[in-house]
Amino acid sequence: MSSMTFAHHVAAATKASGGMPPPLEPPDLEFCFGERTFGPVEMRKRLPKQVFQSMVAAMEKGAAWDSSVADIVAQAMKEWALEHGATHFAHWFQPLTGATAAKHDSFLSPSIGGKIVTKLSGADLIQGEPDASSFPGGGLRATHEARGYTAWDPTSPAFLVKNRNGCYLAIPTAFVSWTGEALDHKTPLLRSIDTLDRQARRVLKLFGINVERVYSTVGTEQEYFLIDEEYFYRRPDLVNCGRTLIGAKPPKGQQLDDHYFGDIEERMMAFMLAAEKELYLLGIPAKTRHNEVAPGQYEIAPVFEDSNRATDHQHLIMRTLARAARQYGLVCLLHEKPFAGINGSGKHNNWSVSTDTGLNLLDPGPTPHSNPLFMFFCTAVIRSVFKHQDLLRISVASAANDHRLGANEAPPAIMSVFLGEQLSNIYEQLKDGPATSSMRGSKMFLGVTGLPTLPKHAGDRNRTSPFAFTGNKFEFRAVGSSQSVSFPNVVLNVAMAESLDVMGQALATALGDGDPADESVLSDAVTRVVREVMDEARPILFEGDNYDEAWHQEAERRGLLNLRTTVDALERMTDRKNIDIFEYYDVLSEREFLARQEVWLEQYEMNIDIEAETLDAIARTQVMPAAVAYLNALISASAGSGSHGIGIAKSEVASGIDDLQAGLAALSKAMAAHGGDTQANARHRCDHVVPAMGQVRAACDALERLVPAHLWPLPTYQDMLFVH
Ligand code: ADP
Ligand code: MG
Repeated sequence: MSSMTFAHHVAAATKASGGMPPPLEPPDLEFCFGERTFGPVEMRKRLPKQVFQSMVAAMEKGAAWDSSVADIVAQAMKEWALEHGATHFAHWFQPLTGATAAKHDSFLSPSIGGKIVTKLSGADLIQGEPDASSFPGGGLRATHEARGYTAWDPTSPAFLVKNRNGCYLAIPTAFVSWTGEALDHKTPLLRSIDTLDRQARRVLKLFGINVERVYSTVGTEQEYFLIDEEYFYRRPDLVNCGRTLIGAKPPKGQQLDDHYFGDIEERMMAFMLAAEKELYLLGIPAKTRHNEVAPGQYEIAPVFEDSNRATDHQHLIMRTLARAARQYGLVCLLHEKPFAGINGSGKHNNWSVSTDTGLNLLDPGPTPHSNPLFMFFCTAVIRSVFKHQDLLRISVASAANDHRLGANEAPPAIMSVFLGEQLSNIYEQLKDGPATSSMRGSKMFLGVTGLPTLPKHAGDRNRTSPFAFTGNKFEFRAVGSSQSVSFPNVVLNVAMAESLDVMGQALATALGDGDPADESVLSDAVTRVVREVMDEARPILFEGDNYDEAWHQEAERRGLLNLRTTVDALERMTDRKNIDIFEYYDVLSEREFLARQEVWLEQYEMNIDIEAETLDAIARTQVMPAAVAYLNALISASAGSGSHGIGIAKSEVASGIDDLQAGLAALSKAMAAHGGDTQANARHRCDHVVPAMGQVRAACDALERLVPAHLWPLPTYQDMLFVH
């Protein structure tokens, strides 16, 4: 082992044993949860009763609130924040960069006599004015048109961001241009929730159910990697791109399946406890943690919340993981594919629709065939996926996620719905008429009297499906680990709103003058609508192995879309149907929608360019010199000995160097060629730059297997994945 590599290991190991921060007090869950949020608990304590009630109505039912309450809320919020040591407040928003942004203002306000007072007015709370021109706008804003506004979202609680040296108050906001066009991820999400609410309540009325609010619920399962920061800093590719651009496959990867659900190492556990404690304080219900499939890979999942809060919280989870890791000398990699040949990271987006009275509309109950409400809503989801496969694929499109989707470890780029045996069987029955039975779960005896008898579900799970029914919700699994879950949920909400609209009209027609209170009238009408929808949407159902090549052929035969790359997907955004659904349901205007296409294509292009330039630099300034040094050593050695073996080694290294040169020449050529408009540029990166990067990588990885460890300039996969 080289002295340099060994020094890394020692540094990593020392940190793991002794260099960790002092132990934290374990959190008192019932007491500390939400301590750093200005949520209902704090509001009840600090606001006059009527103001409190109007805030709760806004938070729980999306009710309009009177702007006269803003001054009172702002004052209370400020006092609370000051008591916690805050000096600044910030409108916190989600620009189209995919990250979050905030401009901080201090609470100080000069008053007469040169004294300073602290202040947060209602106006400060309601509206901010960040410069819009420095955020991606996709043509919605020109560089000189700088005005943009942030608008307070009272449905997501304000929170405190704290570190050892201070604290600020973050106020969740929507971000729009001077013309009122959405420049962010939150505005369309809120609009899509409203649209879904309207359509769902209209349908529920037909079922005789009157509620005040319907909303989508979301629970995200976040996967991530942890590596020692010692290695991170020595990898320009990780620093610049968040993923390794080269790296030979290590002898031990994940083939032994010994990491999944395995014992969590001491240092990782310390990190997790610290991160979770922070999340509890922020009112984020972190629930599950475990080792994931790949070495160095982990998962965290919170309990589900309404989709707006869940999306805000998802951002805070990513941020908290990244920060907490640094305290333990670790770096949290949120990239979709940090290591080639090793499982990538996704973010399963568990999604359902619920009423404010707590009724989960995707809860099948024990006998779904006799539950018309469930059958109606479940069919609406199936229709949504069928009709808008392209939008779902678009919603998860990124250069990073392209490495994952379809790479036999993540769902393919082809969208399909998995229902499980029980529901599949019901939809089979519906082919020929009404469904008359539901398969039941059973009991399982484990062969040992001392062990409990376990209830067995009516169907197994399928982990290869991109869109799977998992008991009382659907799980959209193609979402990337580093992305905001906002747009995927916008698409789900708006597609669902459309399905409920169309199917709701069909149901009203099918009911005619019949009385929906009569169970058989209602169930006949629902059956009719469901059968009609399924006649068209059935090809989207698939229960088999989504990784299997045979499925890809079958999917093509069925006419399902297979949008392999980000560019393939984003190009579909100009399809009329996609523009229309967003416009018709008031979620994004045509201009707003197409601006997103522009922004995402541009992001793709820029990401690929950063990767290509980083790879070029690593290959030329690190890999090539190491290979040449070794070649020189071999040349000297062969001059002194007639060894046949040295001769072979020499020619292997020499031909490796030639391959690398050839790859670099191809990459330079691809990078020099310019397309034209954004779409042509992105297409060029996808078709020419990405393959050339693959060629350079292959040459580097071949050299890594030849060049002596003491000459190899980068930490290896083995170092990064196994040395903690
Ligand atoms: P799984 O079904 O994947 O084994 P869990 O029951 O632990 O696992 O759920 C995974 C995620 O799904 C969690 O975030 C959980 O809160 C979320 N979830 C459960 N029910 C719903 C629901 N009705 N709507 C949205 N998400 C849900
Ligand atoms: Mg799951």
